[in-house]
Amino acid sequence: MDDSSISDSQGSDGIFFNKQGKFCIPCTAFRGFQYVAAGLRTRYENYKSNQGSSPTVIMNDNDKIPGSRSYLKEDPPDVQKLGVASWDFLHSMAAKYPDQPTVTQEGEMKEFLKIFSHVYPCHWCAKDFEKYIEKHAPRTKSKEDLSRWMCEAHNSVNGKLGKPKFDCNFWKQRWQDGWED
Ligand code: FAD
Repeated sequence: MDDSSISDSQGSDGIFFNKQGKFCIPCTAFRGFQYVAAGLRTRYENYKSNQGSSPTVIMNDNDKIPGSRSYLKEDPPDVQKLGVASWDFLHSMAAKYPDQPTVTQEGEMKEFLKIFSHVYPCHWCAKDFEKYIEKHAPRTKSKEDLSRWMCEAHNSVNGKLGKPKFDCNFWKQRWQDGWED
């Protein structure tokens, strides 16, 4: 990854800045902050609190990108939003992996995960994920293997963040079949 684009300093308030001194949004957890750049924070809060509402209710012209009838002035995702979306993708990808992959499919998956850990746009998350992969090689022999590996990888981040571990016996209900009740 191009070093010039990654953030390299953290302010005392936990906000990350890149080498150009710009605020690094994907590296930053908004949830715990008392303040960030006011406009950004307000738009983020408005967007979050309005998620799930009818677009006709939440949209006024000022909320929209100039010249657009439908696109809101959304800000780039912070570390949590990016994380949820990325785990959605990673677990869903594992749940769609073949039960009996070919050698090529196994190789591609390993390569993908390695590259993913290099390009993940929260650089300190990426570095830890890269180390995790080095220590715990992705298990790619089957969908079951990969899905459980992904669950364990996610649990290692959960542990780091002080969150409870997810019971990996339920990976299939959560990421493939859904729940009966
Ligand atoms: P998430 O942890 O995003 O989970 C989303 C949903 O997945 C949960 O609601 C649950 O239903 C399900 N789930 C939870 N755990 C598991 C599991 N083990 N297996 C299967 N399903 C599960 N954030 C940081 O602050 N620091 C980091 O270093 C960091 N590293 C990350 C590395 C990667 C590769 C990724 C993809 C994300 C990383 N994140 C990191 C983001 C972090 O993991 C969370 O996504 C973010 O904190 C939001 O958490 P959440 O509690 O909303 O749900």
